[in-house]
Amino acid sequence: MSENQLTIKDYETPVCPTWCPGCSNYSIWVAVRQALVKLGIQPHEVVFTFDIGCNSNGANFYQGYICHALHGRALPPAEAIRWANHKLKAVIAVGGDGGGFGIGVGHFIHACRRNVDLLYITHDNQIYGLTTGQTSPTSPKGFISKSTPFGNLEEPVNPSALALASRATWVARGFAGELNHLADLIIKGIKHPGFAHLNIFQPCVTFNKVNTFEWFRERVYKLEDTGYQPHDRQLAWEKSWEMNGQLPIGLLYEITAPTYREQLPQLATEALVEKKLGEIDLTRALAEFR
Ligand code: SF4
Repeated sequence: MSENQLTIKDYETPVCPTWCPGCSNYSIWVAVRQALVKLGIQPHEVVFTFDIGCNSNGANFYQGYICHALHGRALPPAEAIRWANHKLKAVIAVGGDGGGFGIGVGHFIHACRRNVDLLYITHDNQIYGLTTGQTSPTSPKGFISKSTPFGNLEEPVNPSALALASRATWVARGFAGELNHLADLIIKGIKHPGFAHLNIFQPCVTFNKVNTFEWFRERVYKLEDTGYQPHDRQLAWEKSWEMNGQLPIGLLYEITAPTYREQLPQLATEALVEKKLGEIDLTRALAEFR
């Protein structure tokens, strides 16, 4: 299959998606595949790692190399895969607000500061959808759900601010209701040489009756329409906290810095998977265990 013959159908499996009718996971599924088509990345050249959650049922719906990890653990295998073969065209980790900013938040912080070369997409619907509607780490204070019937007592995590504070080199926000804009951000995130975090406002049409498509449509605006330049961390920090009735989407922050792998002389040239282990002299290492 040549690059220009690719279509989004090439990234589909025979398994029909089981998301609720109208779920915004469908839009993200389309946007990711549009981005891969535009980049000419074929299914065998991309690795996806998935968390647990509605979003990560995508493990069954995307064609490519797939790892369906434990809850909160989409990032560790993605990092290992990138270090094992830094020549892969794309490594994409996918998770949600529960796995990403609750159960697996430690992995997120450390992946940011390590600057591992991969794209981490978080479907942020501000609720646990797969388990039928409990308050999540990004649910707003006062949010009423099955788990907080009298209102959420906790302040929500701000994913983009957390990424900036953890020194991620590429931080963006998208909205599932802005498909082409989202696909463009995914392209930029895949191309970024380092850790790219894309948090997507992803309305859960079944269980979150507050943060709906309409709610977001009334509030989101595109940073690039304002002349915003994404190279100042302080400015990005301020934008990430902008909540005065408006929510900026687009690229908040971008710098180039050495990736973790680039700082390892052992992986300066050939990938780990290309190394001929039989030619490595293990005499000294083995002597230490005698
Ligand atoms: Fe989508 Fe919510 Fe249904 Fe999950 S529960 S598939 S997030 S609409």
